[in-house]
Amino acid sequence: MSQAKSYAAKSATTPLEPFSFERRTLREDDINIDILYCGVCHSDIHIAESDWGPSIYPVVPGHEIIGRVTEIGNKVSKYKVGDLVGVGCMVDSCQHCSQCEADLEQYCDNGSVGTYGFKDLIDGSITYGGYSDHIVVREKFVLSIPQALDASKAAPLLCAGVTTYSPLRHHGVKAGDKVGVLGMGGLGHMGVKFAKAFGAEVTIFTRSESKVAEAKLQGADHVVVSTDEAQMKASVMSFDYLLDTIPVQHDLNPYLNCLKVDGTHILVGLIEPIEPAVHAANLVLKRRVLTGSLIGGIAETQEVLDFCAKHDIECDAEMISIQDINQAYQRMKQGDVKYRFIIDMKSLKN
Ligand code: NDP
Ligand code: ZN
Repeated sequence: MSQAKSYAAKSATTPLEPFSFERRTLREDDINIDILYCGVCHSDIHIAESDWGPSIYPVVPGHEIIGRVTEIGNKVSKYKVGDLVGVGCMVDSCQHCSQCEADLEQYCDNGSVGTYGFKDLIDGSITYGGYSDHIVVREKFVLSIPQALDASKAAPLLCAGVTTYSPLRHHGVKAGDKVGVLGMGGLGHMGVKFAKAFGAEVTIFTRSESKVAEAKLQGADHVVVSTDEAQMKASVMSFDYLLDTIPVQHDLNPYLNCLKVDGTHILVGLIEPIEPAVHAANLVLKRRVLTGSLIGGIAETQEVLDFCAKHDIECDAEMISIQDINQAYQRMKQGDVKYRFIIDMKSLKN
């Protein structure tokens, strides 16, 4: 066992605070990683605040982890001490169901193990995430960080990156397709970069007039201010795909109407339940599809890291100290982040 320092939420209504706990002794296929950077995902807020039902407290959030290998179990073959590695949203799965065999561990029939707030499959202990100084993870769930990536900006690729890359790839987004990205936050701005890299014509839907100029700098071809009814009306029947990253309940109907016949609305923002109701006519009359997507498998996450290294794609991020985390959560709730906070975990020593 090793003592870990971290920041944790002790309840849904209290700010994150320093917290110490024990990481397990390395198993034969485990890797010990000293955490350098950890991205801040809106899911961290949802789980810290029990937005998706009661969380198991204390919650140590963080599933966009970059660090260095400091120790390996005796059956580890892929990594050695000193390697730069990453850990994303999952740390284990059953490894034998049809989903795991298809490299879709996130959809494991027996339930994948999230990086924090889940039960370890072997000893039943609760997983603690990346707002901590080190983490112990099974080799299979550790990613290799390509040298060409800037380590200080790579963390968000492990969640925001793969969560937007995976559905665009799965649905075969290609040159000439018209893609709308809803919400210009951590996921949204990566969605723009990937859709552009796949050759699509990309439109950002944002509430914020102030993000219009920047959306274009991000590579978006067009911007729709979603609070402007005239702009929404002008977008009706225009899109092949909508990638919806909005993290709160919102009316899907006006967006569905922006899809062409056979268009697909992909939810990645997790809103429970969907309210107000979706009008069946908005799907039926134009054979539109409403679907969702959950992160990506381990192989696909590695593919995203390699793709970003090759195509020079990186996240736009603001570096913070762990002591700023509660303020960062407030700013994210107000849509005030360009476009991902990354915690410099050295600050945990302060
Ligand atoms: P961010 O907070 O970084 O971005 C969300 C964006 O949505 C904001 O920047 C804002 O864009 C827009 N938005 C925020 N509030 C509202 C509102 N009240 N009405 C309309 N638009 C709003 O969040 P993330 O990108 O980190 O995460 C987005 C969602 O995706 C979360 O629900 C998260 O839990 C989920 N998620 C899902 C995953 C999956 O596997 N499916 C994986 C990771 C995250 P603007 O200012 O431009 O309007
Ligand atoms: Zn995330």
